[in-house]
Amino acid sequence: MTSINPFEVAKRQIDACADILKLPPDITAMLKTPMREMHVALPVRMDDGSIKVFQGFRVQYNDAKGPTKGGIRFHPDETIDTVRALASWMTWKCALLDLPLGGGKGGVICNPKEMSPGELERLSRAYIRAIYQFVGPERDVPAPDVYTTPQMMAWMMDEYSAIAGKSQFGVITGKPLAVGGSPGRGDATARGGMYTIREAAKSLGIDLSKAKVAVQGYGNAGYHAARLCSELFGSTIIAVCDSKGGVCCTTGVDTAAAYTCKNQTGSVCNLPGMDTISNEELMELDVDILIPAAIENIITDKNAAKIKAKIIAELANGPTTPEADDILYKNGVHVIPDFLCNAGGVTVSYFEMVQNYYMYTWEEADVYERLDRKMTAAYHSVLNTSREHKVNMRQAAYVRAVERVVEAMKLRGWV
Ligand code: GLU
Repeated sequence: MTSINPFEVAKRQIDACADILKLPPDITAMLKTPMREMHVALPVRMDDGSIKVFQGFRVQYNDAKGPTKGGIRFHPDETIDTVRALASWMTWKCALLDLPLGGGKGGVICNPKEMSPGELERLSRAYIRAIYQFVGPERDVPAPDVYTTPQMMAWMMDEYSAIAGKSQFGVITGKPLAVGGSPGRGDATARGGMYTIREAAKSLGIDLSKAKVAVQGYGNAGYHAARLCSELFGSTIIAVCDSKGGVCCTTGVDTAAAYTCKNQTGSVCNLPGMDTISNEELMELDVDILIPAAIENIITDKNAAKIKAKIIAELANGPTTPEADDILYKNGVHVIPDFLCNAGGVTVSYFEMVQNYYMYTWEEADVYERLDRKMTAAYHSVLNTSREHKVNMRQAAYVRAVERVVEAMKLRGWV
């Protein structure tokens, strides 16, 4: 991760939105301040018998519109400011998609790649024990994020239920199907992004069946995005990469083979018969669609002017700095901003909450259709706002989301 502080970026974005909406300073101050945050120490018994103390965070940014919602990251570079920024973006994401939810985020400083399944289970359970009193189906509902999995969600749900003394499936989303997960949640982030890409391509007159695509990051979001771009649109994925490097091929990378290769060798860059490419080079390829699907701050003032893509679909949270945003807007690059593009994950998480409340499971096709409606509506409301106010897509998304949060805060008598 770079030295750019994501929470400073998030606050600058709110300031820019406050200027457009002419918000009074007291309301702006409220929007820039997390409502509640927890810092917890998590002692975990490691496989060698020693005890290691991990540091964890949970930030509940704003619950004016409902219980806070957002993932948990297990990452060696986690910081409280990253979690604050991500929790603020969850607030705008849920509001933009018109979900009855606020925004939150959690994080634990650890390297899951160096931990055994048993150690990860004990850490997952320790995290839930530490924050138990402050989360719950009507308070704050976590989910997976970078380096956390459905299995970890199952352990966390189980720990919460054990303490509560009853099944509490609704405490967490992104669970496996057999323990209250929703059909369609696994690839929901990428699939939701596809609906926004489809709408953007229509509005820009791009034929997606002839489009060239590059994907940066090959975790849950990146892999499914690459797969779905070729499955749903017939686009050619000419390059993919992960934290260790990448591969490119003008006739198309086999997305399933790249996935298997990553699982077996630890990186897509070991895929045989391909040219290798660095993360930096991938960002500057001559493609129609660039999909950043990893972590924050990878499009900055250093590389923004070199980006040739017509559409940047931000499946990652916070990949673009404000300076880069200005450059991309001037250059006519159509950015589908993160908290619009990647909102499919939390939208299906919300569907999962609804199904858990009702103890009823929807059909997968039903989930896709509802997701499509939500994403398509959100995309067009942002596009129209951007044209109306003559601002870039990110600022337009902020305008729509912040208006809704401010309305809720006013109705509740907070401001
Ligand atoms: N971690 C995902 C996000 O950043 C999903 C959050 C959720 O499902 O609550 O949107």
